[in-house]
Amino acid sequence: MLTGDRRAIQELARDFAEGEIVPVAGQWDHQGAFDREVLDKLAGLGFLGMMVPERYGGLELDLPTYLVAFEEFARGDAALSLTIHIQNGPVPVILLDHGTGEQKSRWLPALASGEKIAGFALSEAGAGSDPASMTARARRVDGGWEISGQKKWVTNGGLADVMLVFARTGGPDAGGRAIGAFLVDTDAPGYRVGKREKTMGLRASETVEVELDGVRVAGDRLVGNPSHGLRYALEALDLGRLGIGAQAVGIARAALEHAIVYSRERHQFGRPIASFGAIRSKLSTMATRIAASRALVMEGARAWQERAAGRAGDVPVTARSAMAKLMASETAAWVTEEAVRIFGGYGFMREFPVEKLMRDAKVTEIYEGTSEILRLVIGRSLTA
Ligand SMILES: Cc1cc2nc3c(=O)[nH]c(=O)nc-3n(C[C@H](O)[C@H](O)[C@H](O)COP(=O)(O)OP(=O)(O)OC[C@H]3O[C@@H](n4cnc5c(N)ncnc54)[C@H](O)[C@@H]3O)c2cc1C
Repeated sequence: MLTGDRRAIQELARDFAEGEIVPVAGQWDHQGAFDREVLDKLAGLGFLGMMVPERYGGLELDLPTYLVAFEEFARGDAALSLTIHIQNGPVPVILLDHGTGEQKSRWLPALASGEKIAGFALSEAGAGSDPASMTARARRVDGGWEISGQKKWVTNGGLADVMLVFARTGGPDAGGRAIGAFLVDTDAPGYRVGKREKTMGLRASETVEVELDGVRVAGDRLVGNPSHGLRYALEALDLGRLGIGAQAVGIARAALEHAIVYSRERHQFGRPIASFGAIRSKLSTMATRIAASRALVMEGARAWQERAAGRAGDVPVTARSAMAKLMASETAAWVTEEAVRIFGGYGFMREFPVEKLMRDAKVTEIYEGTSEILRLVIGRSLTA
């Protein structure tokens, strides 16, 4: 059951998505970019700082409320929603949990107002599922740090003003886990945006390589302990995976809604195809799996909140957020494929909406932990 405030935020997000995103999402996909102004409009309504405390200019929503709003944006367009996710999720959460008072006062209002768009650069060409094996390095220099390395698959890469960059701060003797998190201006000397990837889906999202060649940052750009950056990134993944779970639910819901409308309108054998048992059966299973995915996402969100409030709940958060993302992403991949089948030949055509949804859904099974890695995490919690 949604409480009043949560429903009001959900409706605001839904209206925004219906008015500003849904009508142009297909066009963004074709042109390979969303309009920058949409971020200003989102910022104007507080949607770029949804969980940031009010004293830093945010809406201070709780996690379940954020996720119901976020599902609406993902239903509108997955590519834009990924930018919304990074701006609201991992970057401000790490700052809130580990930043100094000065860092919070400086960066959180800038993120919440959209003055600064953020990115999150953890992965490298040889270090995806295993980020501890990254090779980017930060070495101490007079007054701060000098960072060198190459990051891969960086979302918002060409759009971001500030990048949270993870780099190794200790030698191999530091157990491989001495990794720091640094706030790097994307116009700093030595910071270069490289190749933009051509992607199967999320075509309006900028996924790029980033090269850092001796980029100098002041000491106040290090977030938290210079050896604990990887731990912060992995902690943020619990929340990030719930976000990707909600994104997958949004994509799947869009596909189901299109499939319902189409199946009522499309006639074969003199009847709407919705009257055939086979089609109804598909729609029923699609709706059921979406509802189950959303319930898991919300259960994970409640568990996360309990842990954040210092209460030890019964539910292990890391395993639950992994289950939520696993279930929701595999559901989105399956539901969007079923939607393409329901559309028949038209499902394969670019002027119909479901082929985009099928392409967009796929990546939810990959980023923020592949399905194999999620099963590993869940399996470990069951057998530890
Ligand atoms: C569109 C897009 C946007 C992205 N945005 C960002 C971003 O903004 N910032 C960022 O830092 N990263 C980002 N990523 C990177 C993403 O997080 C990684 O691609 C993901 O973590 C997987 O890493 P990998 O691609 O190196 O695959 P690999 O780790 O090489 O995995 C290859 C295969 O091996 C399997 N595998 C690996 N290890 C194990 C194991 N121990 N047991 C069983 N199976 C295993 C995997 O499941 C997979 O099937 C993005 C990726 C994409 C596609």
